[in-house]
Amino acid sequence: MKYIIPGHEPLEIQTIILDLNGTLSVGGVIPEGVKERLGDLKDRGFNLVFFTGNTRGDADELSERLGIQWKLAKTALEKRDLAKEIGSATCATIGNGLIDSELMKEVALGIVTLQAEGVHTQTLLAADIVVPSINDALDLFLDENRLIATLRR
Ligand SMILES: [Mg+2]
Repeated sequence: MKYIIPGHEPLEIQTIILDLNGTLSVGGVIPEGVKERLGDLKDRGFNLVFFTGNTRGDADELSERLGIQWKLAKTALEKRDLAKEIGSATCATIGNGLIDSELMKEVALGIVTLQAEGVHTQTLLAADIVVPSINDALDLFLDENRLIATLRR
């Protein structure tokens, strides 16, 4: 998706990289409405993937349930390097922890979610947009006017 944003460089997002714990899932639970939004985003042509250290061992099950791929990344630098492999200039990321900080700096658009688990301040400062919840973050891509209104000068 290409976004024309006044006072902003042209922005094209092809891939949305999601963090798992504290972002896609809160306290180990996927919030209601997430799966439907992910389906809508896929229908619109976005490539969706989550990066996780898979500490809970549930990445495969969640991947199947949510209908999106996942990749193993155990450190902030591994997350960043995976984004480089995908092509970070056309990636957005949604995350919350310190492990997302390098990835947040690397990609074209960074979004952090507060939710119940909070945001690390280093990651917050590397982000472009702060939203309260994962559903709010996904809605920025489903209603581009929200994204444009927040990013425009
Ligand atoms: Mg997290």
